Amino acid sequence: MAREGTGRGRFTEHVVAGYEIEGISVGGQQTSVIVPRLSLCFDSGRCPQRSVYADHMCVSHTHMDHIGGCGMYVATRGLLKLSPPKILLPKRRVDAFATFMDAMRALDDSELRHEAIGIEPGERFAMSKLFEIAPFKTTHPVPSQGYIVYGTKQKLKSEYAGLDGGDIKKLRENGVIVTDKVEVPEVAFTGDTTAAWIDDPANVDALRAKLLIMECTFVDDSVSKEDAEEYGHTHIDDLISRADKFENEGILLIHFSARYKAEEVRRALEARLPKKLFDKTTPMLVGYD
Ligand SMILES: [Zn+2]
Ligand SMILES: [Zn+2]
Repeated sequence: MAREGTGRGRFTEHVVAGYEIEGISVGGQQTSVIVPRLSLCFDSGRCPQRSVYADHMCVSHTHMDHIGGCGMYVATRGLLKLSPPKILLPKRRVDAFATFMDAMRALDDSELRHEAIGIEPGERFAMSKLFEIAPFKTTHPVPSQGYIVYGTKQKLKSEYAGLDGGDIKKLRENGVIVTDKVEVPEVAFTGDTTAAWIDDPANVDALRAKLLIMECTFVDDSVSKEDAEEYGHTHIDDLISRADKFENEGILLIHFSARYKAEEVRRALEARLPKKLFDKTTPMLVGYD
């Protein structure tokens, strides 16, 4: 299900739930998770070069290890003559983000063309004809949100299921709407958050997304579950107590504390996660010793 270290230098390439994923995520240092198939990047801690090919960026919150690379992301796209990216972010941070980008524009003496789009839970953004993005509520010391990417398609209404192509064409010509919009949660990304989002019924689609990309900053008892919550982060014990809630096909765990070595994370996941959860979990460990 998952491959690691397939020769792209520092950036691990994973395949989880059928999605190739690139990027890097080290708690407090940098997080940028790229889903090339969707041309989408979640957060831009230090802007991995490969992330600049993503046309869209979803920003979970404005801590520097998640937005420090936004200037490079926008500038490099300009340099490569790629289209100005669309950057989705929490609505309450739009003004501050504009100030941040304006300062870089002045310093770089360039246009840094991009479109910053404030969005909040309950709203939708149509990324393309086939994919829509919906933010969901998370909990962190600054305004934050996760994102669900829905795949959308038109499905023939059940009452027309027996008809042949010609009959359906006729109905269409007569202005009858013969299809329903069907949507499937494909990918969800939490950004930094306590585990409270998992208990919020409004967020259930994130637990059903084929691929869930979820922070799990602490994996041992050097930091307690209570302290993790205090810092606005998730502890492995939070996942263990909610193991049955994850209906996802695959889970990519990110944002482990920089205090850990890769092997410590692997060992902790194997020793502590219930088997059913462990079997569908892949840790993103590029950048750890
Ligand atoms: Zn972080
Ligand atoms: Zn943070």
